[in-house]
Amino acid sequence: MDDCIFCKIANGEIPTDFIYSDENVVAFKDLNPQAPVHVLVIPKKHYKSGIFVDDPAVWGQLMGAAVKVARELGLEQDGYRMVINTGEQGGQTVPHLHLHLLAGRNLGWPPG
Ligand code: AMP
Ligand code: ZN
Repeated sequence: MDDCIFCKIANGEIPTDFIYSDENVVAFKDLNPQAPVHVLVIPKKHYKSGIFVDDPAVWGQLMGAAVKVARELGLEQDGYRMVINTGEQGGQTVPHLHLHLLAGRNLGWPPG
């Protein structure tokens, strides 16, 4: 996707410090953090949202990477939250599938 900001981050067009990267996934800090730890984990391949994922392996790659990042950041003791906003009512603003990893404070429930 030519004008997708997360594709540009994933392919290096926008220089970004990756917290994690592998063959399929990259992770980086959210620009507008909603918690002391706020990391975005995204597939390198463009999917507009989770609705458009046609290969179930993508979920394993994304969640597997997110769990690794959570471990590497030492979040297991206090806990964390993973969120995938999907579509308009789901609160998605960037149309490239991404998982939010949030931690470092007590997170409210239910979400807004
Ligand atoms: P969502 O609302 O679930 O689509 O989340 C999109 C997230 O991407 C928001 O938390 C934004 O702060 C974040 N974001 C948007 N642009 C960038 C960027 N260039 N680098 C890092 N995070 C970004
Ligand atoms: Zn994209």
